[in-house]
Amino acid sequence: MSGHVLVINAGSSSLKYSLVDAKTGEAAATGLVERIGEEQSHHVHHGPSGSYDDEQAVADHEAALEAAVQAFETHGPALGDVDIVAVGHRVVHGGDRFAAPALVDDELIAAVTELVPLAPLHNPANLEGIEVARRLLPDLPHVAVFDTAFHQTLPPYAYTYAVPTAWQEEYGIRRYGFHGTSHSFVSGQAAALLGRSVEDVNLIVLHLGNGCSATAVRGGRSVDTSMGLTPLEGLVMGTRSGDLDPAIHGLLARVAGRSAEETDRALNSESGLKGLTGVNDFREVSRRRAAGDERAQLAFDVYCYRLKKYIGAYYAVLGTVDAIVFTAGVGQHSAEVRAAAVSGLEGLGIHLDPARNADPTDNIASTDDSPVAVLVIPTNEEWEIARQALDVVGG
Ligand code: AMP
Repeated sequence: MSGHVLVINAGSSSLKYSLVDAKTGEAAATGLVERIGEEQSHHVHHGPSGSYDDEQAVADHEAALEAAVQAFETHGPALGDVDIVAVGHRVVHGGDRFAAPALVDDELIAAVTELVPLAPLHNPANLEGIEVARRLLPDLPHVAVFDTAFHQTLPPYAYTYAVPTAWQEEYGIRRYGFHGTSHSFVSGQAAALLGRSVEDVNLIVLHLGNGCSATAVRGGRSVDTSMGLTPLEGLVMGTRSGDLDPAIHGLLARVAGRSAEETDRALNSESGLKGLTGVNDFREVSRRRAAGDERAQLAFDVYCYRLKKYIGAYYAVLGTVDAIVFTAGVGQHSAEVRAAAVSGLEGLGIHLDPARNADPTDNIASTDDSPVAVLVIPTNEEWEIARQALDVVGG
């Protein structure tokens, strides 16, 4: 085997890994350690000889990665038998310092540490993953791949908030955007599907998972995106509110005595679909809506209306659009969301084919003569991270 990258995505209490052939995207093994630091952790490893499940306590990220390395030895493929060229780490926030993936060294770690105030939930966990992996796998080059990097091509008028200039200079307050590896991957796939070079197409990419974001992509470059300083802004998500009036923070402080932290937490973890229906899983919202639940219907309408507004806004940003691309859990699987998001947009040249939309096996949900194609494309962030890591180490 050759050209494999061990992709690591370290969250606050989880460690996800995947051994990916950077050329083909094929995963030789994948795994996930969840509930790190709790009494009973959960480790699942899918290798060539099947799946392996374990429920032992895993104290910290170091123990989690040790368990992963052990799972490779026991259940395959043994890491020593695979030509691994790099370890690729997902890092959520690269600020405006990283417009591309970069080799991990002490300077990079210092820079990512400085960015912690911008991503207090994510960057510390990502750093932990990097440090542990460097200790356990010291002979391999480690590459950081940033969620924000793809959006560093935004023009200043798209990334600048209309707030006092000093806020950007002093606190880094501007739009950064996230889900960059997904938007980048899906853009390349969409262009290939259209039989065009990515430089020649304009796309609106809608990543609709637990987190949701929309990106306007002109010629392979992100020119606007819905997530902002943090992944809270933009579309309605599983537990995040997306766009709202910033005055809400002040009002809740005055009338309800809520602290900034409490409101932040509620907007990140108790809002979105969960705030409107009590559940964040889109499938459950769908099920309730089908059963006539009015709150689920309203949540669905709010979700899809926001999506439609972003499609319209990014259509205006791009001027001409070759395709609208749906990806991630909801984008890929919910025909009803796709239908609602583009309904009534025939005047913009967007013509959905209901039968294809219900079963988009060839990735196309629009009619043959629709001026704007509607595509349904699975994302593969692990493969994109592997490809970018391979680029950095010169594969
Ligand atoms: P992701 O973050 O990409 O894993 O997406 C997770 C979201 O996709 C959750 O809200 C799921 O409920 C939703 N999802 C997954 N499968 C389906 C499905 N078949 N239909 C509708 N939503 C789905």
